[in-house]
Amino acid sequence: MRVYSPQDIEFLDRQALEAIQLLRLKKVIAVALDTPFYKERLSGVGIEHPKDLKSLDDLNKIPFTTKDDLRDTYPYGLLSVNKKEVVRMHASSGTTGKPTVIFYDRDDLNRWTHLALRSLRACGCGPIDVFQNMMTYGLFTGGLGLHYGAEDLGMFVIPSSGGNTQRQLLLMKDFGTTVVHATPSYMLHLYAQMDNMGVKLSDLNLHKALIGAEPHSEDLRRKIETLFGIDAYNSYGLSEMNGPSVAFECVEKSGMHLWEDAYRLEIVDRHSLEAVEDGVVGELVLTNLIRHASPILRYRTKDLTRILTGTCACGRTSRRIDRIMGRTDDMLIINGVNVFPSQIEEVVMKIPEAGNNYRIVVRKKGTLDVLIVELEVGPDILSDDTRDLYALKGRLVEALKASISIKPIVEFHEPGQLPVQEGKAIRVVDERGNLY
Ligand code: ADP
Ligand code: ZN
Repeated sequence: MRVYSPQDIEFLDRQALEAIQLLRLKKVIAVALDTPFYKERLSGVGIEHPKDLKSLDDLNKIPFTTKDDLRDTYPYGLLSVNKKEVVRMHASSGTTGKPTVIFYDRDDLNRWTHLALRSLRACGCGPIDVFQNMMTYGLFTGGLGLHYGAEDLGMFVIPSSGGNTQRQLLLMKDFGTTVVHATPSYMLHLYAQMDNMGVKLSDLNLHKALIGAEPHSEDLRRKIETLFGIDAYNSYGLSEMNGPSVAFECVEKSGMHLWEDAYRLEIVDRHSLEAVEDGVVGELVLTNLIRHASPILRYRTKDLTRILTGTCACGRTSRRIDRIMGRTDDMLIINGVNVFPSQIEEVVMKIPEAGNNYRIVVRKKGTLDVLIVELEVGPDILSDDTRDLYALKGRLVEALKASISIKPIVEFHEPGQLPVQEGKAIRVVDERGNLY
């Protein structure tokens, strides 16, 4: 085990931290200039070479990068190293057929792993812990993102991945899991299933839950803590910035430390896109300072938060952000999976039997989210053989599942049955209540 001294990067003063940021930013600019996309963007603002970046303030000259930019450059437009250097890719859900992809070379992965180790250590995890990682392993960064950091910290890792609650509980019980990593909604589901599966709290040895990937309120955190009698820590990440371990709560639970040696942090007004004062809510904009295979500069996350002022009692100097208070776009997060209403519309519109009106409803069933797609279909369909109706429903469910990775409930209605708005159609009804 490596020993960390107080001079560790997490405790640097502002000046030293910014010196590291500038050094790392120059390196990222150098690799970004190797991609046609950034070469054009950067030369447009007079940056032809890393040395044209004199100070961190010069970063403000660079235009923002958006999810659309990432889609437009799919698949390899933002790759800045030789393909043989790439050792892994991840992807975030996006519109059909075009996810946003991120590449990592060996050093990129090592640097990300180290951030995961730091995040786990910050919330009090250590080699003594048994870590059951219930986030899905795969293209989604949630699973693999913390896995290697946990191993490097010396934790006993159970890569159980998502789903299969019965097996999760069995593993927790038989291997004395002390820390789990899951979405907050899955934590509630897990609790609700314990009774059915004959598992009691006293059968478990759980101390901590690391919860993230979807918005949740302070009340929901407390509920999880009270139900299980544990500590729950908020974990924030997004694939464009590697994945989990962008910002993480320390044992103080007073906001998430955003690892500033690895990510340059800005909060901008959601309309003017000008920087806001510390403490004011705005859109989080991040620059990845540690990934060279897929450089991303000034990425508009669409997540709303604010910088928390003051210092943290733990002594770490990386500034803290508040829990995510919402998003500036219409992306829904359903049981941790990102879904854009446009993805659903695209599938629905391909079905010739579909009528003119449809509605997307998200509500809680027990502790999990359910997605209901309601659509009007021609009267002839509803009066047809019910087998045809079931077949059509089945086709639609499968097509939606293939597109958004979530199995929805599909409901058919007669023409004119769904509410019609006079102005802009209200296509999405989120009945999960105000989370924030
Ligand atoms: P992941 O869901 O693995 O974090 P994605 O790139 O698929 O990565 O999705 C990232 C988005 O998920 C973020 O932009 C944010 O909207 C949401 N998200 C991630 N972590 C949290 C969190 N702790 N609280 C609220 N929202 C979160
Ligand atoms: Zn702290």
